[in-house]
Amino acid sequence: MIYDVIVVGTGPAGSTAALELARRGCRVLALEKKRHPRYKVCGGGLSVRLNHLIGRGYHAVVEKTVTRLVMACQGRPSFEVAFDAPIAYMTMRDRFDAYLMEQARQAGCEIREDEPAMEMESMDDSIRVKTPRGEYHARTIIGADGVPSGVAKSLFPMNKTVCGVALESETAPASGRSWSDDGVLIDIGFIRHGYSWIFPKADHLSCGLATFHRDRQDLRARYGQFALEHPTLPAAEAQRTIGHLIPHFSPNAGSRVHGRAILVGDAAAMMDPFLGEGIYYAIWSGQLAAQAVAEFLKEGKPLTSYDDSVQKEIEPELRTAHRIAWIVYHFPRLVFRLTSRRTEFLVGYGKVLQGRMSYQGLWKRGLDPRRWFGRLL
Ligand SMILES: Cc1cc2nc3c(=O)[nH]c(=O)nc-3n(C[C@H](O)[C@H](O)[C@H](O)COP(=O)(O)OP(=O)(O)OC[C@H]3O[C@@H](n4cnc5c(N)ncnc54)[C@H](O)[C@@H]3O)c2cc1C
Repeated sequence: MIYDVIVVGTGPAGSTAALELARRGCRVLALEKKRHPRYKVCGGGLSVRLNHLIGRGYHAVVEKTVTRLVMACQGRPSFEVAFDAPIAYMTMRDRFDAYLMEQARQAGCEIREDEPAMEMESMDDSIRVKTPRGEYHARTIIGADGVPSGVAKSLFPMNKTVCGVALESETAPASGRSWSDDGVLIDIGFIRHGYSWIFPKADHLSCGLATFHRDRQDLRARYGQFALEHPTLPAAEAQRTIGHLIPHFSPNAGSRVHGRAILVGDAAAMMDPFLGEGIYYAIWSGQLAAQAVAEFLKEGKPLTSYDDSVQKEIEPELRTAHRIAWIVYHFPRLVFRLTSRRTEFLVGYGKVLQGRMSYQGLWKRGLDPRRWFGRLL
């Protein structure tokens, strides 16, 4: 039997692509190397604009709703911005990813868990995938296997993945301390080209730090300083931190289509380079990929229509985020000082998270940092 599509990986990108393809009547096989629900190193922050992409069914696995942002910069007095409506929801990825995968299964996708794709090969008019349990054939393949991606390595000869690194801990607050239910903390002072965070969950805090560039930094030492500076957290030695790669978005990324293969989500480095939001872009790219694959299978349109959609819809946003990240992470103290005096940038960013403004809109509405620096001079 030959499938229409094999989706490798059932994180947000893979489950979304599988769901949308099954809904379009395609014969879909999804392979997942783990078994859901499984722990995933992630802050689990979902911007409210996700509602526009997938509706509100996932609210069943939301643990907290965020309406406040506490900004900090390595020990300087922090400040707060309160938003007029929620900007983000907090979830745990075991439950969120299991929810998405279940949606795909109910739509008719065949899902094989505990079954990693091990070898992938392009044939003349199909793709062959080997797993420890067998061999499958499909007319197309979607690489949704995160970072580093085996699909990218096997089927994209020009693939050059560049990664940053992140560290995360799921911890109770320090003894006698607590953290508010509706606030997140972002500290831009402890790590170069990145930030540290505290996100509230139902019964604990998800905390960590990430750098979007792969320069040499002692993440554990920096996390130790972060925990020392924020007394809500227990000492780093009392926490269990887990490291993970984080894709580095490049404004000059090559094609995400090669032959009959497509990359989505982290496998395609589709991550916001400002605050590392990846779930929203994983789901968005999964939807665009599903549309392109369905049109390829049913109407013979070229698969590269996926590249066109990504370039038109997602990339302009990520490029603008990339510019903002460059400014913020090159001048964190200056940005902190400016935003503590004038909070429009953060209020505007809240609107981006709410889906009321795009990154490009934020940039155009007077938040072009050249104007800020101009004022300062
Ligand atoms: C510390 C940290 C904190 C983060 N916090 C946030 C946050 O708060 N908000 C946010 O939006 N983003 C956050 N991100 C980014 C987010 O986790 C990713 O962008 C998102 O998970 C990408 O989804 P994906 O579906 O592309 O890949 P993944 O979620 O990585 O899913 C890939 C799936 O593929 C499976 N797989 C891998 N190899 C194979 C194989 N060979 N065969 C079969 N299956 C395979 C994996 O088991 C996994 O289930 C964070 C990342 C890190 C590291």
